[in-house]
This record gives sequence, structure tokens and C-alpha cells, in this order.
Amino acid sequence: MESVTPAPSHPDAAQQRVIEPLYAAVLRRNPGESEFHQAVREVLETLGPVLTRRPEFVDAKLIERICEPERQLIFRVPWADDSGEVHVNRGFRVEFNSSLGPYKGGLRFHPSVNLGIVKFLGFEQIFKNALTGMPIGGGKGGSDFDPKGRSDAEVMRFCQSFMTELYRHLGEYTDVPAGDIGVGGREIGYLFGQYKRITNRYESGVLTGKGLGWGGAHARTEATGYGCVMFTAEMLRARGLDLAGQRVAVSGSGNVAIYATQKAQQLGATVVTCSDSDGYVVDEQGIDLGLLKEIKEAGRGRVSEYAERRGGGARFVSGSSVWEVPCDVALPCATQNELTAADAATLVRNGVRAVAEGANMPTTPEAVRVLQDAKVAFAPGKAANAGGVATSALEMQQNASRDSWSFGHTEDRLAEIMKHIHDSCHTTAERYGRPGNYVVGANIAGFEIVAEAMLAQGLI
Ligand code: GLU
Repeated sequence: MESVTPAPSHPDAAQQRVIEPLYAAVLRRNPGESEFHQAVREVLETLGPVLTRRPEFVDAKLIERICEPERQLIFRVPWADDSGEVHVNRGFRVEFNSSLGPYKGGLRFHPSVNLGIVKFLGFEQIFKNALTGMPIGGGKGGSDFDPKGRSDAEVMRFCQSFMTELYRHLGEYTDVPAGDIGVGGREIGYLFGQYKRITNRYESGVLTGKGLGWGGAHARTEATGYGCVMFTAEMLRARGLDLAGQRVAVSGSGNVAIYATQKAQQLGATVVTCSDSDGYVVDEQGIDLGLLKEIKEAGRGRVSEYAERRGGGARFVSGSSVWEVPCDVALPCATQNELTAADAATLVRNGVRAVAEGANMPTTPEAVRVLQDAKVAFAPGKAANAGGVATSALEMQQNASRDSWSFGHTEDRLAEIMKHIHDSCHTTAERYGRPGNYVVGANIAGFEIVAEAMLAQGLI
């Protein structure tokens, strides 16, 4: 259902007059794409001060151009299941912005995927990628294919069919996909194999998230979760706090959640939750990561099984929100709009100090407002989860130089990048009179980088 969010509180009336028609045009041009509208609105609401200071951005119609993808691909993906039955899915790739480098962003395989979701993710990716300081543009893709319950052979046939269409649009200098929800190492392997077969080129840098033995980067699997916790630690440090000793609630149980949990534990915090679409687990002794990984990675199982096998203090709570568990730090690492205003109010009541988005846009705009009004440190995904794509850029760098770095070296680079992102969001927010507001800092810092590049490259 189409709903227009009420006028935002932060921009002043003059800024509002610039922003409203721009947003209205996006609504008109992209009907029904509510997640895309939400992502655009969130960015536009914070750009008023930049547009006032830099009228040349307005004259060059940079907002209109940034909100319109450079290219949008929609294609048919036919495949046959193990019983021979034919299925038809829809594939997407939105090549949003190439002002900083080849389009870069993941592929999501999930039944909820549609053009609006891919556009929201691609739009976020532009600014996220810019914040990393690496030479990568923004894009995103995926399919409404549901890998859940499918055999390896079925997933392989699907990936081969998907790539048989998509390959013509990819290339290490053109468009470089990676994983996202539903696309991990297995899928990247099948996609890469098919690309190689069709093109007869071992073009390592055309996909990231590859296996370690064939062009993948150490720490890429861990990077999004690790980076999110590194960012959280920086954010707490800026407030004179230490992550060590904090009680952390993590949602999700995929790749991002697992490695956020691991890094938080390494830094001395206690992670007490994980979740999936059936419910959440609370484990007062701290999540046993070995057990969780065994269940999720090896068996692709559910978190309810974790509680059964762990026994003791671990409890599975079906069908309700993980955010009812009291914590100092909340890391939403599952999916978009999973943390609502009511959840935010509960977290605030329970004394939360920091929230950092491991997933893309997991916090609703209303929830962000609740947290910010309560002076909770809040890190938007485009800053806090940029470690994944940053390490993808490091993978591309290794592929281009036919090199392979150690885990330690790659993790050190990731830590440097996360600190750089934190510091640039922090100083940008201060520069624009909104100290401590990482939403403003991330949006403006990312936008300025992209806008300068677009201006320099002329009207394209
Ligand atoms: N899907 C991840 C993201 O949302 C990673 C993208 C990539 O590595 O290209 O940023």
C-alpha cells in the first residue's frame, strides 16, 4: 500500500521547499515501490543543508539524476527442479550509479524480491560504497527465487540460468555482483562457473565472495558482521564507552549475524540472542557460536534447534520480537524494517545505548526517530554494514594484481576502513551542525563524494 510519510522534522522550511518536489517526482515516477520511496526519503531529508550550500548541485539536477538508475534489467529465469517440473522466476539487476567505479552490490534470492526492493538496496549501495573510499559504483540485483528447501542441484541449475542472461551485462570493469540474502559461497561458485563457461574467460574480478581457493578474499565472509561491530566500538568510543562488558542483542542468524556475534565476543561483549523468521533464542550464558554455526551453516537449520540442543539457560521464543530482550547494544542483522517504533521504545525503556544496522534498512524511519530522540547512538546500515562491500573491493584489488592477502592483513584493512567511515560520518555531522547524528553524517558524506564525481564527469 502506498503511504506518504509525514513531513520530516529536521529540514527547515526553505530546505523543505527544495526537497518536497524532488521526493514527489520520485513517488510519481516509481509507483508502488514503497521500500525505494523510504530509502530515498531518508536520504533526501538529510540533504537540505548541502543543497542550500551548493546550488550547483541543484542546477545540475544531481538529485534527480541520482534517484534514477543508469540502467534497470529485468529478465526471465526458467529452470527445472529435480522432478523435471519447470519453474519461471524473475531476475533483476539495477545498475544504479557508476560515477565512482563499476556497479557493485550483491544479489538477493528471496521470494520478497521485486523491483522496488532491488532499487532500495541499489540506492543505498551508492552511498555506502562511496563511504568506503574505494573505487566502486552502486548496483544491486536478485530474484524472487526461494533457495529454501531446494537441493544443491536445483540451486545450481537456477544459478546457471540466471547467469546465462546476466553475464552479458557484467565484467570486472562494468558490473561486479556479490552475495546478499540467499546468495552465499555456494551460489557465487555456481554463478562464477557459468560466467567462465559462457565467456571462456577466467575473469576473477567479475564476482566477489568467491571461495578462498579460487580468487576469494580472506575475511570477506566475516567482513559485514565484523565491520558492523568495529563501527559500533568506534561509536561507543566517541561517547567515552567501551564495547567490552556490554550486553548485545543480535537479530538474524545468517552470515552477518554470525560474524557480528563472533567479533562482539572477541571484543569482550556478551551476545545473548539470535533469531530467524520463526522466533528468537535468548541465551543468558552467551551464544555458543560453534553450535549456532553448526546448525545454520552445515545443516541450514532453524534457531529453535539451537535452544533444544543447547539446553540450560537457552530459551526459544516463538513469533515475537528479539528487541524485547534487554540489552546495551542492539545489532539488527536480519532484514529491512524488522525493528519498529514499538521495538525502539522497548529498547529505550530497557536502557539501550547503541544500535547499529548490520542489515540494510532494518530500522523503520519512525524507530530511528524514537532512538535519536532518546539520544541513543544510531548507525545506519550504509555506514555500519559497509565492511562487506569494502572487503569485496579488497577482493577486486587482489584479483586485479593476482595476489592473495593473509586474513590478518585483510582484517587490518577492514578495521582501517571502518574507522575511516566512522570518522567521516562523525566529522560531517559536526560540520553540518548535527553532532552525533550518524544518519546525517553518512548521507551527506556519501552524497558529497558521488555528487562531486558526477559534476566533474559532465551531463551523463
Ligand atoms: N550485499 C552486501 C551489501 O549489502 C555486499 C555487496 C558486495 O559485496 O558487493 O553491501
